[in-house]
Amino acid sequence: MASSDYFCYMSQTSSSFLDRSTDKAADLEHRRKINFNIGKYNSVVPIGKQQFTDVNLARERAKNIKWRAIETLDQQLEEFEMKLQKRGGKVIWAETAQEALDAILTICKEKNCKSIVKSKSMVTEEIHLNKFLEENNIESVETDLGEYIQQLDDEPPYHIVTPAMHKSKEDVARLFTEKLNTPPGLSPEQLTLVARDKLREKYVRAEIGITGANFIIPEIGGIAVTENEGNARLSCSWPKTHIVVVGIEKVIPTVADLALFWPLLATYGTGQRITSYNTIVSGPRRENEPDGPDDMYVILLDNGRTNLLQNPKSRESLYCIRCGACLNACPVYKNIGGHAYGTTYSGPIGSVITPHLKDIGEWKHLSYASSLCGNCTEVCAVKINLHELLLENRHEAVEEGSSAWAEKIAWKVWRRASLSRGMMNMGNRKIKNWVVNKLIKNWSAHREELDFPASTFNQQWKEKLHNKKAPNS
Ligand code: SF4
Repeated sequence: MASSDYFCYMSQTSSSFLDRSTDKAADLEHRRKINFNIGKYNSVVPIGKQQFTDVNLARERAKNIKWRAIETLDQQLEEFEMKLQKRGGKVIWAETAQEALDAILTICKEKNCKSIVKSKSMVTEEIHLNKFLEENNIESVETDLGEYIQQLDDEPPYHIVTPAMHKSKEDVARLFTEKLNTPPGLSPEQLTLVARDKLREKYVRAEIGITGANFIIPEIGGIAVTENEGNARLSCSWPKTHIVVVGIEKVIPTVADLALFWPLLATYGTGQRITSYNTIVSGPRRENEPDGPDDMYVILLDNGRTNLLQNPKSRESLYCIRCGACLNACPVYKNIGGHAYGTTYSGPIGSVITPHLKDIGEWKHLSYASSLCGNCTEVCAVKINLHELLLENRHEAVEEGSSAWAEKIAWKVWRRASLSRGMMNMGNRKIKNWVVNKLIKNWSAHREELDFPASTFNQQWKEKLHNKKAPNS
C-alpha cells in the first residue's frame, strides 16, 4: 500500500460509490434529464402547498403525530395486529428480509402460485423480492408504469417516488421497441396503452397481489395505499390473495390523521393536492362483500428499523413518509442520481437510514455525501432534521471506530498542530504543499490544490503591525 493510500482507505462499497458518482457527475445528458424532471416537480409543488392555510404548521403537526406513533410503536403495532386479525387478516412479524421472503414463499406454495402482480413498493425493493421470486420460478410483474419500465430495463428504481425519473420519453419508447417489439417513436400516451394492455392480462392470471403500504392505521386495523394509476387497488383486490409488505415505522395512530397525511404526501411527493387513488384496506373480503381477496396477509418488517428506534437521535428518521422531496432538493442527488448510491433508499434520507439499516462501517460514506447545505431539512414534509442526522451518523461512525487508523492519526496530528503556534510555523511552503496535496491524496482528487503562502501567519502578522506603526515612528 502506498503511503498516500493509508489516508484514503475505503471499503469496496465506498469506492464503487465514488466511481459511479464521478461518472454520473460528468454525464451532462443525465443532468439535463434530471433537471428537466425536477424542474417540473418544482413548478407544481408551490401550487399544491396553497391548499394549506399554514403549510409549516401542517408539517409540524405531522411531525408531532409521527413522534407519538414512533414513541408508542410497540403498542400501536399490537393494536393493529389485534384489530386486523378480528377482521380476518393475518399478521406476520419479520425481523429480517430473509424472514419476510420465507413467509412470502410459504404463502406462494400454499396457494400454488405461479404468477404475482405487484404494485410499487420500496420495501419490496429493500428485500429484493422480485429476484427471490424469480429464483423460485414465480413470475412477479411490476404494475406501476414507472416500475414496469424499470423492470423491463432490468434496473432498480432510480427515485423513491418516480422510479424512471432518469429516462426521457424517447428512452422509454426505445426500451419498449427493444423489449416489447412496439413500433419506434411511440408517444407517452401510446406507450401507456401498450403497458396497460400487457398488464391487464397479468392481473387476470395472478394468484397473488403484493403491495406495500403508505400507512399502517392501528385504530381500524387497516393499511392505506396511495397511488396515481389504480394499479395498487387492482393488485390488492383482484387476485385471491393479497400480501402487504410494510416497514414497522409506517404507523399513524388514527384514520383521522389521514386528513393531514394524504394531502401532505401528495403535495410533497408530486405537487398534487391529493393523489388520484387513496385506498384503505382492512382485511380480506367479508361474506356480504362482492369484491376483494379471500386472504390478506400483512408482513411487518423490521430489517434494521429497530436499530434506528433504539437510537434517540436517529429515531426521528422513522417519521419519513417517503415523499421524495429531500431527493429532489439535494444538490448531490441532482448531480450523481439515484443509482450511484448503490442502495434502495437514495438521497438524504437514504444516506441517513442506510448505515443503520445495513452496516455503519460499510455504508458510512453516504453520510459524507452531503454538502450539509440543509436544503433537505428545509423541504422535508415532516420536518426531519436530515442534515443534522447526517452529521450524527458521521459522529457515530467515528465513535464506533470505523474510520481508518491513518485517518485517526492524521486528525490527531492536525489537532495537535493547529493548537500549537510553534508547530504551525514549522516547515516551509513547499513542505506544507506536499503534505496536503500529495500525502493526503484525496484532498486534491476533487479540489484544486492548496498553495500555502511563503511566510507563516505569525510573520505576516508581524509585518502588518510593523507597516501600521511605520508612518508614526
Ligand atoms: S425525509 Fe422527509 S423529505 Fe425525505 S422522503 Fe422522508 S418525508 Fe420526504
